[in-house]
Formats: sequence, C-alpha cells, structure tokens
Amino acid sequence: MKTFQALVLDEKAGKTTTCFRELAVDSLPEGEVLVLVAWSSLNYKDALAVTGRGKIVRRFPMVPGIDLAGTVEESSSPEFKRGDKIIVTGCGLGEDRWGGFSQLARVKVESIVPLPERLSLKQAMAVGTAGFTAMLCVMALEDHGLKPGDGEVAVTGAAGGVGSVAVALLSKLGHEVAASTGRTEAHDYLKSLGARRIVDRKFFTAPDDKPLGSQRWVGAVDTVGGRTLASLIRSLGYGRSVAACGLAGGAELNTTVYPFILRGVNLLGVNSSLTPYDRRLRAWKRLAKELPLDLLDSMTQTARLKDVPKLSGQMLEGKIRGRTVIKLDA
Ligand code: NDP
Repeated sequence: MKTFQALVLDEKAGKTTTCFRELAVDSLPEGEVLVLVAWSSLNYKDALAVTGRGKIVRRFPMVPGIDLAGTVEESSSPEFKRGDKIIVTGCGLGEDRWGGFSQLARVKVESIVPLPERLSLKQAMAVGTAGFTAMLCVMALEDHGLKPGDGEVAVTGAAGGVGSVAVALLSKLGHEVAASTGRTEAHDYLKSLGARRIVDRKFFTAPDDKPLGSQRWVGAVDTVGGRTLASLIRSLGYGRSVAACGLAGGAELNTTVYPFILRGVNLLGVNSSLTPYDRRLRAWKRLAKELPLDLLDSMTQTARLKDVPKLSGQMLEGKIRGRTVIKLDA
C-alpha cells in the first residue's frame, strides 16, 4: 500500500477543519512498527478533537483516533513481526501523534499490546479506550477493597461507552449495579447488561448543600464529573471509593473535606492514556477473560470512516449508546 485513506484535522483561523485525504506512506510519523489498521473506535476524546470542541490535538495537521487495532505490516523491533495482530489505545495517538482514523499507522513499540486471546480485532476496538478505562476503574475499586456482595455500586453515564462496559463487567463480577442514565429508552438496555437497578441522572444533580448524605454506595464508577461526582462523594459508605474518569457532565468539582475526614472515602483518579505497561497488559487480559463477549457485541455498532464527523457531534449531544467501532479495511 503506497497511499492510504485517513481523516485529517487542520486548523484555520483558530477553528478545526476536517477532511478525508489520500496520504503517502512516507508522510507517517516516526515509529518502529507500521500497522495495517483494520478497526478503530470512537471515544469521547475523539469527538472533542474532531468537532474542535476540546483542546485535544496538540499539533496540526493531525490524524485523529485514540485507538487502533490491526496487523503489523513492517517492524524494525524484534518484539513484533509482520502478521502480528496488535492494539494500541491512548499513548498520545490522535493527540500528539497520528492516530487510528487511518488505514495505515506508524506506532511506537512501547505503546503496543498484543491482541489478547479470545478477542478479535473488532472486539478489541469494541472495548477500546472506553472499555479499557472501565476495567481500570474496576481494578482501582478492587485495589481499595471492593468485593462482590458488599452492596450497591453506582455507574454514572451508564448508557455511554465507559458506562456500558463498566455495568457489564461489574455485574459479571457479581456486584449489584445501580446504573444511572438520563435516557429512559436505555433502561431495558442497561438491564440487559446486568444492571440491578436504574437511577435517573437527575438524582445526582438535585441541589443539595449538605456536606454528607446517607451512605448509599459501596463504590462508584463516575464518567460524568461535576455535581454528579460531588453527590457520589457525599454518599459513599465508610472507607469506600469512587473511580473518577470522566467529565461528560462538567469538569468542576465542588465538595467539602467532610466525606474524606469523617468517612475516610477515597477519590481515585483514572487516566487510561498514561497507564503503565504492566497494568495495561493486566487490564487487557482481564477484559478478554471477564467481559462477556455476547454483551460486548450487543453494545457495539459499526460505522465507516466517513461517518466519524457526524457521529462525533452526536456523541457530544449524548445520543450515542454503548460503543462504536470504525471499520478501516476494505
Ligand atoms: P460517551 O459519550 O459514550 O458517554 C457519556 C455518557 O455520559 C452519555 O452516554 C450520557 O449517559 C452521559 N452524559 C452525557 N452528557 C451528560 C450531561 N450533560 N450530564 C450528565 N450525564 C451526561 O462517552 P465515554 O463513555 O466514551 O466517555 C465518558 C467520559 O469519560 C468522557 O468525559 C470521557 O472524556 C471520559 N473518559 C476518560 C478516560 C480516562 O482515561 N480518564 C478514558 C475514556 C473516557 P446517559 O445517557 O446514560 O445518561
């Protein structure tokens, strides 16, 4: 393949522009491994980058797409050879180096995870950064003592990508999941993923000035931030934790120190992009083993590269359910 198709972002008068371009292989950035990309996936960060509504891209022109899965075409590293199936999530893809919305990519060897057994390339991208982040949140909660049978675990933004995988994973692991959503039409979907109870999104954003609430949750995965995260912190049980990974509802956080000093609760930050390699491998191994693949398939829709700009707008409006994979090969 001498040329390849990619989505390219550029900047004109401070505004992000998008176009589909045919690029030459030698325009790709430095990196030990050239990958024939089969699948990518759409994440919230991609939607912010493609629409220009978030400062995600560090330099232009940029091929967005924080995830990719494909087959090694050329490798100057002894760790990978032509034909190996690999995935890359985060690690600067689509932010400071060209990413996965492209039929070819050149990546750094330290960012590559070999495709875990049991997953196809498509399923790996159905998991993608969103599912990987959900697993990291679950691991963070477990590291802080969460066990099945403890009580109710809240998942916010539950019908989104991170939320859907978190609901399916926690339920499979034997936790009692309370899934929070703003979409009534998603209730049956969330129950099909294993949610025991649905909580309306408004429950978490109702005005409440009290520094502490009733001890409702034994743990939480929060993708929403803002008032929702503040509410979760107020309502965790003694010594319990919330894994905070998102800002779909806002980046601010107004809380007091009371939940921390009177209830010993923990606010656990999760950043998937910079996860150390060993933990990255552990999370992918667990995803391949513990995430029910029938549920993963049921939460995934397939789209093409040409659909990415439109889907990005829909994602920021909260209209995309579950995960979206992008097919790159013919
Ligand atoms: P999605 O768009 O798939 O899901 C976001 C969900 O949040 C929506 O489906 C909706 O859920 C809910 N939501 C949207 N708008 C609002 C709002 N105004 N108020 C309350 N809830 C809202 O995105 P992802 O699941 O991929 O990502 C979720 C968040 O996690 C994003 O902020 C993203 O940046 C972050 N993230 C962070 C990562 C990290 O490493 N820290 C990695 C991956 C994602 P519902 O309809 O069910 O209410």
